Amino acid sequence: MSLKIGVIGLGNMGGGMAATLASKGFDVSGFDLAHTALEKAQAKGVKPVAEREQLIASVEVLILSLPKAEHVEAVCLGANGILALGKPGLIVVDTTTSTPEASRKVAAALKVKGIAFIDAPVSGGPKGAATGTMSMVIGAEDDDLARVMPILEGMSGTRVHIGQTGAGNVAKIANNMLTACHLISTAEALSMAAKAGVDPAKLLEGLNAGSGRSSATQAMFPTWVMNKAYDSGFTMGLMRKDVGLARDLSASLDLDLPLSRAVADLWQASSATLPDADDFCCIVERTDAPLFGRGE
Ligand code: NAD
Repeated sequence: MSLKIGVIGLGNMGGGMAATLASKGFDVSGFDLAHTALEKAQAKGVKPVAEREQLIASVEVLILSLPKAEHVEAVCLGANGILALGKPGLIVVDTTTSTPEASRKVAAALKVKGIAFIDAPVSGGPKGAATGTMSMVIGAEDDDLARVMPILEGMSGTRVHIGQTGAGNVAKIANNMLTACHLISTAEALSMAAKAGVDPAKLLEGLNAGSGRSSATQAMFPTWVMNKAYDSGFTMGLMRKDVGLARDLSASLDLDLPLSRAVADLWQASSATLPDADDFCCIVERTDAPLFGRGE
C-alpha cells in the first residue's frame, strides 16, 4: 500500500520532487507559503493543501524542501508544526541543505513523540528533481530509511547512506564546499588559458579528458556558463548560505582550512556585486568579468 506523502516547500527543488512522485503514481499533497508555487505543483498532479496544519495531520511521510535550517526548525518545532500536529509513526524526510545540529535537534525532539526524522539533502538541481535523477546523501537510522526507501527511489537516481542523523548534511556541506571551490578554480583556469591564447571551449574539452575535471568543467560551465545562460535554478543566495555552513562547520571543529577560507571569503565578498537572486554560476564574473560577464 502506498504511503500518503506531503511535501512542504514547492520551490525549484520541492516542486520538482513532488511532481516526479505524483507522475509515478504516489499519493502526493503539497503546501507552500507562495500561492504561485502551489498552483504550479497542482498543474503537475500534486494535490494542493491551503493550510500547512491540515497537511501535517493527514500524511504518513512528510518531505521538506525549505531554504534554510531555521525554516526546518520552525516547521518542525514551531507553533502548529510537525511536533505539535504530526501523528506517531510519521516520518519526515528533510531534503533541505541544512545543518547537522538542526537535524539532530529536530530528530531528538520528534522522536519523543514517535515521529522519525532523516536528513537527505540532494544534488542535481531542479532538472534532477523534475526527472527523479538527483542524488541524496542520507543521515538516518537503518529502520527509518528502509520504510521510506521506495519513495526515495521514486524521487532520486542515487542514494548514499552516509551515517546517523546529521551525517547527510555534513556530506552535503562538504559537497557544496567543493562545488563552490571548483566554480572559482575552473574560472581561473579558463581565464589563464584564454590570456595564453587558448580557446576556453577547447580548454574545457582538454580538462574533461584529463585529471582536472569536475562537475564544474563537465556540467556547470558547458550548461550554464559558456553560453552565458546562467539559468541553473540554484541561486547565489542559497550557495552563499552553503559556503557559510562549511565555514561555520570547520570553525566549530577548530579546523584551519586555508583554501576553503579563501573560497568562503570570495563568496561572501561577492554579495557586493551579485544579489541573492542571481544564478550561483555568476560567481565566475568575479574572476574575469570580460570573459564571463552577462553583458547587456
Ligand atoms: P526555492 O527558494 O526555489 O524554494 C523554497 C520554497 O520554500 C519556496 O517556494 C518558499 O516559498 C517555500 N517556503 C519557505 N518557507 C516556507 C515555510 N515555512 N512553509 C512552506 N513553504 C516555505 O529553493 P530551492 O532552490 O528549491 O532550494 C530548496 C533547498 O534545496 C535549499 O536548502 C537549497 O539549498 C537546496 N538545494 C537546491 C538546489 C538547486 O539547484 N536549486 C540543489 C540542491 C539543493
